[in-house]
This record gives sequence, structure tokens and C-alpha cells, in this order.
Amino acid sequence: MITALTLDLDDTLWPVMPTLLRAEAVLQDWLRVHAPATAAAFDVPTLQRLRGEVTRRHPEFAHDLTTLRLITLREALSASGDDPALAEPAFAVLFAERQRVQWYADVRPALERLAARFPLLALSNGNAELAPTGLSPYFVGAVSARGCGVAKPSARIFEAACAALGCTASQVMHVGDDWRLDIVGARRAGLHTAWIRRPEAALHHGPSSPEEDDAPGGRHLHLDDLLALADALGA
Ligand SMILES: [Mg+2]
Repeated sequence: MITALTLDLDDTLWPVMPTLLRAEAVLQDWLRVHAPATAAAFDVPTLQRLRGEVTRRHPEFAHDLTTLRLITLREALSASGDDPALAEPAFAVLFAERQRVQWYADVRPALERLAARFPLLALSNGNAELAPTGLSPYFVGAVSARGCGVAKPSARIFEAACAALGCTASQVMHVGDDWRLDIVGARRAGLHTAWIRRPEAALHHGPSSPEEDDAPGGRHLHLDDLLALADALGA
């Protein structure tokens, strides 16, 4: 008996890539004005490479994309001779743009139906907050990797989400686009799962090997979008 749902955000409710590309571009514009030496030395791909290095050097922040971004910006600013304290305002500009997401067309009508039937909890590894996206009225709360100290696919974040809902794992269905992070992780934690594979998505995060598809667990759905999920759950 499913009594509550947890939902991934990026690429489940909105396409994340256009949002991130726009946020990177806005950051570059800001740097050109406030830290021109950094803008000249660190274009988008160069800054991305540095972020990759920072991520490898700081596995302790793997669950905290905000901190990884701030460290990256501080290092880029310092290396260019700009004030590293500009990292905070630079991040604020990037983050504000990163929150300006465009939901997939099915999301609002589907969440309206699903939220009328189930408590919905956001469960994300990303650093987007729900309120600025305009979707928070449909959710009873959110659990993030940053707040939890551990990221999907760890069972601990799914357990934290179930605890926040006051449910056992077998009462909760997790909904997400990423096979490894969302589906394998949730099933190992004992949740039911719905794998959303949008036909229009540029990139599918599928099973890395066919046998992974046979993972044990409760109810498991493969669906094109959230309206199909609302239909499947009778919402
Ligand atoms: Mg996702």
C-alpha cells in the first residue's frame, strides 16, 4: 500500500541542462563586470574543469554542490588575482538563475492530482530549492543531499525521507529519472519506484548493465511522464 511519494527534482520535474547553461552564462556576465581577470582566465569550460578537480579533491563535500561551487569560485578568483570574497556574491547570482526552472508541461497538472492523493516530498541531490520554482504548494517538505549529509543512491537519504514522511519504506514510492541514483538506490532502501523516462529528454540515465534491471524490490513502474504516474496510481 503506497501512502506517500518522494520525487526527484532535476530532469524529473524540469530539464536541468538549459537551466545550468543559462546560470553559467549569467555568472560569466557578472564576472566580466566584477572580476574581469577571473572572467578572462576562466571561461565556462575552464571553470567546469576546475570544479571537476575541486570535486575530486573534496570527496567530503560530494553531497554539497553549493560548497563545491563556492570553493571553485574562490580558487578561480584567487588564481586570477581578484578578491576571493567575491565568491559569495558570484554564487548568489549563479544560484538565483539556477532556481529559474521551466517545468515539463505535464508537471503542474500531474502534481495537482498526485498531491490531492498523497503527501509529496522532494528528494534531491541538487541544490535547487523548492520555493523559488513555484512548486512548493504541492509538497509537504524536502530532503536534500546537502541537508542530509549524504546523497542518493545512499539508503540513508531515502530513510531520512521516509522518516520525514512518517512512513515505512514499503509505504513510499520514489519517482525519478536516474536509474542508478533514483531507482537502484530507492529499491535497495526498500521503497517502491517509478522510473520516469521522458521521450523528449536529451539524455537518459539508464541501467549500466542489463542485469541491474532485475533488482529485487516492491512495485516498479517505467513511465513516460508524471501524468502517466497519476493514472497508474489512480490519483
Ligand atoms: Mg534527476
